Amino acid sequence: MLELMAPNKAKSGATRAVPQLSGVQLKVQAARLGQAVPSLAAAYAQALARWLGDPVLRLAGRPIITECYRSPERQDELYKQGRSKPGPVVTYKRGGESKHNTLPSKALDVAFILADGEVSWSGLLLSKFARLMKAADARVRWGGDWPKFKDWPHFEV
Ligand SMILES: [Zn+2]
Repeated sequence: MLELMAPNKAKSGATRAVPQLSGVQLKVQAARLGQAVPSLAAAYAQALARWLGDPVLRLAGRPIITECYRSPERQDELYKQGRSKPGPVVTYKRGGESKHNTLPSKALDVAFILADGEVSWSGLLLSKFARLMKAADARVRWGGDWPKFKDWPHFEV
């Protein structure tokens, strides 16, 4: 959930516009997906295709990968948040301990671009996307299913 590309602003006030990504954003998405282990990348690609093929879901928001591989140094910085640095706790993993820290990565984080260009971490949208991810590959685990520290945007294998 953290670093985001600049969201693409919706065009000319169409109220039911399908959220679109720019060419640059699509390249960023492809690069992030390319960091994932094949099983996770395939599950995401299938879930995304199903989402975009659904007439209701595609209007609700466009799934994006906000982060896939994360360096151990960056993981350590995130670990400080809510501890030695301000902000809420976002992880219980130190550098090297997270499934984001291997390359290829065994984890990716998801959000949604809405029609107005805003980025959303809606629990409802994430739970719907999680269903598609788990249907694509039963090995996928969703952070929203974890009993203690729920990590709604997080998917891993
Ligand atoms: Zn994650």
